[in-house]
Amino acid sequence: MSEGENNDKGFRLLNCEEASKHHFERAANKLKLKRQVRNWLRIPFREISVHLPVVMDDGNLHIFEGFRVQHNNARGPHKGGTRYHPEVTLGDIRGMASWMTWKTALLNLPLGGAKGGVICNAKKMSEAELERVTRKYTQAISVDIGPYQDIPAPDVNTDEKVMAWIMDEYSKLRGYSPAVVTGKPVDLGGSPGRKSATGQGVAHIVEQWAVENSYKMEETTAVVQGFGNVGYHTAHYLNKMGCKIVAISDTGAGIVNRDGLDVGKVFKHKEETGSVSGFPGAETVDKEKIFAQECDFLIPAALENAINGDNFADINTRVIFEAANGPTCPLCEPDLEAKGITIMPDILVNSGGVVVSYFEWVQNLQQFSWSEEQVDLELQKKMKNAYNRVTEKAAEEKVSLRIAAYMLAIEKVAVAAQTRGAY
Ligand code: NAD
Repeated sequence: MSEGENNDKGFRLLNCEEASKHHFERAANKLKLKRQVRNWLRIPFREISVHLPVVMDDGNLHIFEGFRVQHNNARGPHKGGTRYHPEVTLGDIRGMASWMTWKTALLNLPLGGAKGGVICNAKKMSEAELERVTRKYTQAISVDIGPYQDIPAPDVNTDEKVMAWIMDEYSKLRGYSPAVVTGKPVDLGGSPGRKSATGQGVAHIVEQWAVENSYKMEETTAVVQGFGNVGYHTAHYLNKMGCKIVAISDTGAGIVNRDGLDVGKVFKHKEETGSVSGFPGAETVDKEKIFAQECDFLIPAALENAINGDNFADINTRVIFEAANGPTCPLCEPDLEAKGITIMPDILVNSGGVVVSYFEWVQNLQQFSWSEEQVDLELQKKMKNAYNRVTEKAAEEKVSLRIAAYMLAIEKVAVAAQTRGAY
């Protein structure tokens, strides 16, 4: 272990804020970023903390805590997802907001970075309770969001329906504003292809890596951790490209079939039973066990720190494609790299979501909709272009892919901030 405090099982985990600073400082050192710029870019522009009184179905009043952190808007309005989770913290939201700044810059989108969250157990709440929380949250942050200010989107435990409530509540307060949020239902101005965009983008990055490294997709295997929006769509598109999905997990369990899982049938099973657990035709295992499965591509698509001191030694893959945000504890990275495992960084790998969110925003502002074919084509172009820039920069600077991605992003934000005279 190269760094960090040992505990009885492995070593300390960094939260999203610590993880993002860890990567930022390394890239900033490599860029020799001036102290003033560095001090400005490492902290958020604005942090909003709200308390939301909501009457629950049983008649009791519950006070929920929510956040919106706006990290940087030098390149355009703040942009980022909204997470509903019982364990989300302001520190996590801060870290994820900065990841959005780097992601939008890396993909060359005219947007900045933000993230929001509400501490709640969405899975145990009724739809009516979720709607009341969402409307209260929207009212509370409505002054600070808007089509040219800050544009929320879906993240863990928030979906099209939640985005529709945000749009409706905001529009009641400020007039019809579909562009205030992305990831809406298509009938309300959402973009075709947005729901699947993050997973589709992950698959494009995997495919590009395979082409460059002379792997035939139909001879590859993948393990996917997390089977929500991102995990399911990633597995679906990889499978379509010929890759065999040998293991999948969710919060309930892991399932393994070395001959390949039928992703569509696993999805149906999860819809019917609530988990991938017990899927017929596969062995059900402890969810942590899937990390030890041999595969070409390991795809963490659940939460941060999935790959950590407890499991990194068992990992048996060629490349980790970070579909989730912050899934690899940074303190494990040197050891994984020493084992010859390539880590393809989250700010590149999962950026397909914000790319198509950007397309949705553009369509809303222009009041003109694109076809799904156009969205897919533009997404593919942007993902491949960003992949090439990151791999070229890593080779040029002799740094990891993550540091290369951060360097490209930080440079862009620093130039924009400086040119605008922000400091
Ligand atoms: P989601 O709520 O749709 O799905 C999360 C999945 O992770 C669920 O299947 C859940 O069961 C599973 N999970 C949680 N803990 C797990 C564990 N310990 N082991 C195995 N599975 C576990 O969320 P999502 O939108 O798919 O987001 C997943 C990740 O991708 C998050 O890190 C999110 O920030 C990131 N991301 C999402 C988007 C997007 O467009 N939704 C875009 C970029 C990044």
